[in-house]
Parts: sequence; C-alpha cells; structure tokens
Amino acid sequence: MDGLDPRSRVAVVGAGVVGMTTALALQRQGFEVTVLDPEAPGSGASYGNAGFLATELIDPLATPATLRLAPRLLLDPHGALALPLRYLPRLTPWLARFAAAARPTRVTQGREALAALNGVAVAAWRRCLADIGAEEELVASGYLLVWESPAGRARARAQMAHLRHWGHEVEWLEAEALREREPGLTGALSHGLFCPGGHQVRDPHALVTRLAEAFVARGGTLCQARVARLEPRGEGVRLHTDQGPVMAGQAVVAAGAWSHRLAAGLGLSIPLETERGYHLTLPARGQALRQPVGSAERRCVMTPMDCGLRVVGFTELGGLSLAPIRRRYGSLRRHAEALLRDPAGLDDTAEEWMGFRPTLPDSLPVIDTHPDHAGVHFAFGHQHLGLTQAAVTAELLAARMAGEAPALDLAPYRVTRFSRRRGRRQETGHCPA
Ligand SMILES: Cc1cc2nc3c(=O)[nH]c(=O)nc-3n(C[C@H](O)[C@H](O)[C@H](O)COP(=O)(O)OP(=O)(O)OC[C@H]3O[C@@H](n4cnc5c(N)ncnc54)[C@H](O)[C@@H]3O)c2cc1C
Repeated sequence: MDGLDPRSRVAVVGAGVVGMTTALALQRQGFEVTVLDPEAPGSGASYGNAGFLATELIDPLATPATLRLAPRLLLDPHGALALPLRYLPRLTPWLARFAAAARPTRVTQGREALAALNGVAVAAWRRCLADIGAEEELVASGYLLVWESPAGRARARAQMAHLRHWGHEVEWLEAEALREREPGLTGALSHGLFCPGGHQVRDPHALVTRLAEAFVARGGTLCQARVARLEPRGEGVRLHTDQGPVMAGQAVVAAGAWSHRLAAGLGLSIPLETERGYHLTLPARGQALRQPVGSAERRCVMTPMDCGLRVVGFTELGGLSLAPIRRRYGSLRRHAEALLRDPAGLDDTAEEWMGFRPTLPDSLPVIDTHPDHAGVHFAFGHQHLGLTQAAVTAELLAARMAGEAPALDLAPYRVTRFSRRRGRRQETGHCPA
C-alpha cells in the first residue's frame, strides 16, 4: 500500500457528460479516480444531444398539461411523443408513476428542485471549464422559441410570464423582429420568445472528449470495461467487470439510462426509463442559424454547432433494446424543412442518430449515496437536462463525498424516493415521495 486512505480511490461507472464532470470534480477534491466504460467517453446520450443548456426548462415532464396533450401528440404521425406498442406492457408501471407525479403538489416540488439545479448550472459549467482551460466550449448564444401559428399567442404569453416569474429574461418578438434576430428561419413564422441568457456548447461530443483529456492529463485512469455488478465490501467496493475485478474505496454509478441495472444489484429498485431522442446533423450547415431555436408547436430544437446544424426531437418511450425507428428521421427532415429558410443539407449527407435520455417519473435526477453502503454513490437520471445539469451535479456529489456540505439541499434527489424501504436518511426526517 502507498499510505493513501483507501476511500480516496474512486471508480466512476460511465464516461458520459455526468461521469466525466464528476470524475474531474472528484479529482479537484483530491480523489484518485478511475472511470470505467466499455465505450469511448461521450458515446452515449452525451454524444448527440442538442447542446443547449436548457436552464429555462424548470417544469417536470409530468404535469396535468402533459397528460392532457399526450393523446394528441401520440396520434400525430410526426408528433413529438411516441410509444411503440411492443414496449407498452413493460412501460405501464412507469407510466402509472409518471401520471402520479403529475399531481399539483408534486409538480410544484419538482419545479422547485429543477429550478434549484438549473439556477446554478451555467455557473458550475463556467467553473468546470475554467478549471481545465476550456472556457470557449460554452457560448452565450441566447435561445429562441418560435411559433408558426398566431393561435399560439396566448400560449407564448403564458410561457413568457412563467419564465419571467422564475427570473429568466425574455423578449417578445413579432414576425419582423423574429426575422431580424434569426434570418436563417423561414419568413412564415408568427411570433417568438427570445431568452438572451441562454447558453449552448460548441459540440457536446467534443466537450466530453476535452473533459476526458483533462481528466487523464491530471492522472486519471480511463478503463475500457463494462461493469456487471458492484459489490460493497468492508474496505471498499469491488466492481465486477468484463475485464476482471476492479477494487476501489468508493464508487459512483453515472451510467445514464443503464444505471438502474447496477442499482438493482445493490438492492435498490429504481424506475428509470429511457426517452429515446433522435437527431440529424447537417455537417455543412453549422452557420445556418445564429442561436439554438426551438419550435413550440413541432417540439424540436435546431442548434448551430461546430460539427454542423443539429436538428433534435422526439420522446419515444421504447426502452433500451429496440432499434431506432427510421421514420423519425423523415419527421425531423419535415420539421426542419418547414422551419429553415434554406433546407440544404437535409439529404442523405445528414448524420442520423438516436440516443437514450435517462428519465425518472418525477423528472428529477438521483444525486445521492446508497442508504446502506456509504461508499456507493449515484449521479444519473437527468432526462432532457443532463448536459445542463452535469457540472452542478458533479460539484454537489463531489462535495458530499469529500465530507463538505453541498451547496444545495440534496433531499429532492435522493435514491430511495421511489421505494418503500426506509433508508437511513429517510429515518432522519426526509419525507418519502
Ligand atoms: C436527442 C437528445 C437531445 C438532448 N438534448 C439535450 C440538451 O440540449 N441539453 C441537455 O441538457 N440535455 C440534453 N439531452 C439529455 C442529455 O444528453 C442526457 O441527459 C445526458 O447526456 C446524460 O448523460 P449521462 O452521462 O448520464 O449518460 P450517457 O451520456 O448516456 O453516458 C452513460 C455512459 O455509461 C456507460 N455505461 C452504461 N452501462 C455501463 C456499465 N454497465 N459499465 C460501464 N459503463 C456503462 C455508457 O456506455 C455511456 O457511455 C438530450 C438527449 C437526447 C437523446
């Protein structure tokens, strides 16, 4: 032994944006860190997201309005919500929990918990990127949300009032102002909202690659291995991998949409589902827009990036095994064609991709420690907000693991909130959900 406290050696499972920001935050706290993933860093959902720090998304996904709207979205062949029938039997218990999470009191609690994370998300990213000399990866781009139909004016006004109430700066744009702000869009739009405080990253995959490079340059180890099981032992945690066992003092499960499988082996039943999302990336069109643009009616987002113009959409509740459903790419093309002034690049040169958002019924992530094993920690379940919330999640968990008081109350993000078992911290006063 080299005299190090065994607990200072940490294994992080998952090299997505959450795993890599966590690994760097742990290094800053003085931990010796190994990251395990069978794939290269940033190959999961973190590869192909819309690259937008969606701090204004403070409403949980489950709300009475979502439940009312869902049938219409499901019936529209190009609608944003899809539910492959083959997967429905497995999804039903999760849907029941999702519907229960739409109760007004739970929506209010969820909104507060999401707003707490989102409110400090950009500052946490700035600290993370300044620390590794990669500040330019974050761009103060602003964000534009547009409506094609004048019938959406009331909805836009309500959205503006809601965002302002929560401290976001929002400007109302009529069609002409919209054209000036974003000449890359079709002239046939009705109105829009501009959030000047919005941020995007230059390229989400390049970002995770840079995080990983900085991590390795600081002495971190990237281990190409799939973790089958974590076994807490007296002196630490043994990780059983397809490359043999790895011993660590502590472990963090940050395996995105696959995290519940590892938690199950630790006695925790977590209702983690995946919202499959699709993208097209148009490599030659990275300058097509000035800022990320969301369509309120089509529920898709287009972000100009270093790697091209990315068109992103869909919530497909189809699990981890089904192959991508190809007609979704056709729907994305149709949406982009309707929104862009110049639709060049939507041909077969566009990259097609599908990824797995990790989503819990209450839309909140898990940022916590195992109730019975003090050396096992969790950071997963960030749904549509994993890029947004990665750096703040990393800071919060690393602070807790270093024995410091985290900057936010972590009670809303506890791992035991879905189970009836009474974990230690529940007994000390946190209300079970
Ligand atoms: C289409 C789309 C658009 C999105 N747009 C945005 C956006 O604009 N803004 C935003 O904030 N968020 C967005 N998101 C969500 C965001 O991308 C995710 O929440 C985030 O990437 C999750 O990061 P993660 O590190 O938890 O998971 P991932 O990036 O999926 O990483 C998990 C990693 O764990 C590894 N792993 C899994 N099982 C094991 C195992 N047993 N052993 C070892 N390793 C394992 C996987 O190989 C993977 O590399 C979007 C998502 C999608 C799909």
